[in-house]
Amino acid sequence: MSGGSYNYAYGRVNDFAFELERNLEGQRLEDPDAMSPEARDARLRLVAHLKLVASAMHAIEWVDSCDYGPDDEIPAIRAVLGREARGCGGCGGRGVVETRGPAGPGNWEPPWVESPCETCSGSGVAP
Ligand SMILES: [Zn+2]
Repeated sequence: MSGGSYNYAYGRVNDFAFELERNLEGQRLEDPDAMSPEARDARLRLVAHLKLVASAMHAIEWVDSCDYGPDDEIPAIRAVLGREARGCGGCGGRGVVETRGPAGPGNWEPPWVESPCETCSGSGVAP
């Protein structure tokens, strides 16, 4: 175990996210007392977001505890702050968007997932 500069605060966020997810998995939609589908969907989206937040907090703690190198926290932080657009090799626009895949214990640096260029839809030709 390394880190420690923030007393492993990421662990509380991570625990909350996984406990919330477990509770939602136990919810039966046919139960008349179950929460609405809208609430369930909102909570599931929050679970995904909190996992990214916990991953960024973990990365920051490891950098500030000198277990990771300088700037190693940047990708995880960007994943929380939103999508990251970059240039398209086809049309030259900045339409290729990368987002982080799901994070979790033992998977603190989830892979980037690349979507087709929003400008040219991957055709390489600007509209
Ligand atoms: Zn393009």
